[in-house]
Amino acid sequence: MLIIMLGAPGAGKGTVSAILTREFGIPQISTGDILRGEVKKGSDLGKKADEYMKTGKLVPDDIIMGCVEARLAIDDCKGGAILDGFPRTIPQADALKALLTKMGLKLDAVVNLEAPEELLIRRLTSRRTCANPSCQAIYNIYTRPPKNEGVCDICGSPVLQRDDETEEVIKNRLKIYRDTTLPLLDYYGREPVFFSLSCIDAGETVDEIKKKMKKG
Ligand SMILES: [Zn+2]
Repeated sequence: MLIIMLGAPGAGKGTVSAILTREFGIPQISTGDILRGEVKKGSDLGKKADEYMKTGKLVPDDIIMGCVEARLAIDDCKGGAILDGFPRTIPQADALKALLTKMGLKLDAVVNLEAPEELLIRRLTSRRTCANPSCQAIYNIYTRPPKNEGVCDICGSPVLQRDDETEEVIKNRLKIYRDTTLPLLDYYGREPVFFSLSCIDAGETVDEIKKKMKKG
């Protein structure tokens, strides 16, 4: 079961993927998580990636493809995986196609999540993350604030806005998304496994995805 989740930052890819992960028993692979893991470890790959991510720029493909291939080769991906927000560009989609062929995997669904830009900005700038690297609990100043403002409920560490989630960086990320990722919808739009959904409630969106996959 291999699923690609597409959509702008904040469209709900992470939330929807997390539910699908539980239901299908396959891992969610987000290049953001893999790259942040490398940054945290302080690896050479991570240091390079960090320079791009801090300013909201896209990390170069050779760094990303290396991470994805290594990740898909790990045992927990034997039953498949959910690719969350990857690929982002046509060259990445081509590289992924070649990689899947090489690994003997086929795509079961390409899901595009849609949301208005105002909603995306509101969602992304309201997110706060626990600064403790071994906790990283996620909060939202509107829908899930910590009990004490700015303090993690779980570990008591400061709860902060991530460098890549300030309004300025978010707007830049959305612009990059529009410029580089929209052609992907044409690319995958011709495939029978492609469908587009709006994501207001993640649970309902997951039900729709399962329905559409059965039909296919
Ligand atoms: Zn914490």
